[in-house]
Amino acid sequence: MRENIILKCTVCGEENYISTKNRRTHPDRMEIKKFCPRCNKETVHKEKK
Ligand SMILES: [Zn+2]
Repeated sequence: MRENIILKCTVCGEENYISTKNRRTHPDRMEIKKFCPRCNKETVHKEKK
């Protein structure tokens, strides 16, 4: 039951990461701090639906 998700930078909107998540353990929209190459710094990335 794993689902592909796209992680999108909340600052510039760039779609930087593709990941998978378990719908059962993460039913809500994920938010992760990751490095964004366009912003050239760590930003909050949100799951794109
Ligand atoms: Zn960015």
